[in-house]
Amino acid sequence: MTEHLALPGWVHTYSGKVRDLYVPAAPHPDGDVVLVVASDRISAFDHVLPTPVPGKGTVLTQLSLWWFEQLADLVPHHVVTAAGGPGGVPDAVVGRAMVCRRLEMFPVECVARGYLTGSGLVEYRAGGQVCGVPLPAGLVDGSRLPEPIFTPATKAELGEHDENVSFHEVAERIGHDDAALLRDLTLAVYARAEAIARDRGVILADTKLEFGRALEGPHAGAVVLGDEVLTPDSSRFWPADSWAPGRAQPSFDKQYVRDWLTCSESGWDRAGDAPPPPLPADVVRRTQERYLDAYRRLTSRDLALPGV
Ligand code: ATP
Ligand code: MG
Repeated sequence: MTEHLALPGWVHTYSGKVRDLYVPAAPHPDGDVVLVVASDRISAFDHVLPTPVPGKGTVLTQLSLWWFEQLADLVPHHVVTAAGGPGGVPDAVVGRAMVCRRLEMFPVECVARGYLTGSGLVEYRAGGQVCGVPLPAGLVDGSRLPEPIFTPATKAELGEHDENVSFHEVAERIGHDDAALLRDLTLAVYARAEAIARDRGVILADTKLEFGRALEGPHAGAVVLGDEVLTPDSSRFWPADSWAPGRAQPSFDKQYVRDWLTCSESGWDRAGDAPPPPLPADVVRRTQERYLDAYRRLTSRDLALPGV
């Protein structure tokens, strides 16, 4: 379904919706590592769209690297190196790949929410709570929550939907101590990132983290932050100056693509069996701009992308 590059010195092992994973073809100087390559694929409503967004993989990787540094005193991360050269990232994917410590991933999507929207809002409307966390009455789309909450989901197989679960269900699955640690780390990362983003005029409404356990290396035995972090694919970023609860918020993430897919112009029926249609060129360009805008606002750095 998804194509991946052949990379010298690395063997492809897995492709998710957005990323391709490789393992070293021969023993690696840093031991048990994986190469995580962010493609330009974009997914929405759990479908990989037929049209890539050029440069998106680079934005996701560069933004993740920046955040890993901002969070390094709170939680160890999986990045070994993002540089090229021997043992490093192959030339063909420098900029959008990272050599990472291989982790035993917890089968939990660790979500923190500071604001109510998306699947959280749907659950709240149905029963006044999200993932077993009761919330006050009267909240609307975009409301700020009294305090950030941990709303985990179970990781679904490719093509399946992730399912919101309670803390109790996570504890049953991975043990109480690990579940409590993941919850505490997730809320600590959210608090740090929310403050950094707010300083830059961006609301971090919610975010999804993935953790794993390192089997070797400097953090052997510890719980380590893996995957991508605090990107527009894993998080909802809203411009703070236009935040107004009671409606869908403008955002720097792929909400723009979701909106196009569900408008009549796309001709796509989300509930039907047909795959999503190709994205028009202007939708691709605007999506590129949104990803880049998020990167620039958050990091105060610039990034050159193809054709932007
Ligand atoms: P999606 O995130 O779109 O729901 P996905 O999680 O299946 O789908 P990707 O995010 O595209 O797919 O792929 C990244 C995969 O790599 C995930 O399965 C993630 O858990 C895994 N992963 C990330 N970091 C590491 C690591 N350090 N060691 C082992 N696996 C990792
Ligand atoms: Mg993922």
